[in-house]
Amino acid sequence: MTDLPDDLAAENRALRERMAWMLEQAERNHAIMMRHQAFDLEIVGATSFPELIGSIFRTLPAISELESVTLSLVDEGADIRTVMERLGVDFAAFPDLLFVAGSGQLGLEPAPRPRLGSFDAARDSRHFPGATALQSVAVVPLLRNKRVIGTLNLGSADPARFTPSLGTDFVEHMASIIAICLENVISNEMLKYIGLTDSLTGVYNRRYLDRRLLEEIARARRQRYDLSFMYIDIDHFKRINDTLGHQGGDEVLREVAARIKAELRLSDALARFGGEEFVVLLIDADLDSAAFVAERIRAGISSAMIDLPGSLKVSITGSIGVASLSGTAADGSAETAARELIAQADEALYQAKAGGRDRVVRYAGA
Ligand code: GH3
Ligand code: MG
Ligand code: MG
Repeated sequence: MTDLPDDLAAENRALRERMAWMLEQAERNHAIMMRHQAFDLEIVGATSFPELIGSIFRTLPAISELESVTLSLVDEGADIRTVMERLGVDFAAFPDLLFVAGSGQLGLEPAPRPRLGSFDAARDSRHFPGATALQSVAVVPLLRNKRVIGTLNLGSADPARFTPSLGTDFVEHMASIIAICLENVISNEMLKYIGLTDSLTGVYNRRYLDRRLLEEIARARRQRYDLSFMYIDIDHFKRINDTLGHQGGDEVLREVAARIKAELRLSDALARFGGEEFVVLLIDADLDSAAFVAERIRAGISSAMIDLPGSLKVSITGSIGVASLSGTAADGSAETAARELIAQADEALYQAKAGGRDRVVRYAGA
């Protein structure tokens, strides 16, 4: 190979260096794009609220090389939190998930546009409560059908990472996918919740309790503790419907559900089995302690007259049958054990009715 003149050789070297740099940039951008595509796929595949939130907080800071990623969600009336808590979501596991009561508290005024720039504690610390040493942030609205459902908040220790002159296409794209996924899992969870609760009283329905009972029987057998089951039936409820009408009857059902609930622990499950019948599943409770709780419920139901619209008052009583399943006698399938437990509590309830109502009867065995 013949030697090139010096200036040509230098130009050649410079070109090669420039090409190597461009290739490196292209490879780096490609890698970032691939990571973000994998992230998109991961969150689109999330089927539950905790799974989605967990993915976002686990993956996004790593692939974006950010010090802090948080979400602020609009939760008017705390509906999202209430439903998720009822479905067993542990919010303590997600300290970067923040809730606000209205979109006005997101700091997006005057318009819901991404805001990129240096970190301003007075304005931004609401979105990054735990973070220290942030230098620049992007607060990106999460929009669904022009409605602001929250913000995606990205915080960096690099002051040059987010600047007002930076294009917002990329963060907006990310926020739009996150917004769709959020709306999707939230409505899925709401549907799940509706399918498991009784719309009149807000307590669980039979479908939920039947399933929960099987899970709890399996767990109680593994960990060897007792379960107890209560069957509660309001006395002479037909008369209440006859004198107060169906709507008055419904009002009484709501109040009775609240009175039962007031006597229970968080681990106990209350369900309306249909009509004016409620059941309670008590975890790690033997027959004695279940009968004790049942007596408290019975007293609670009849403790005070129930106020109804039109300054009507009505007093009611309820009868309760209680049965238990020993944690050490684990023979037969969980389905059979569940069926027997319910039948035994029902049998005890029948005896409570036959014995004069307004009383608790324990299942005495065959
Ligand atoms: P007992 O003391 O023997 O339990 O007498 P009871 O009148 O309560 O008898 P029973 O339990 O057999 O009757 C239940 C009544 O509950 C029948 C029906 O009129 C009423 N009922 C069932 N579902 C609903 C409901 O969703 N709303 C209202 N308001 N009433 C209901
Ligand atoms: Mg009944
Ligand atoms: Mg009844």
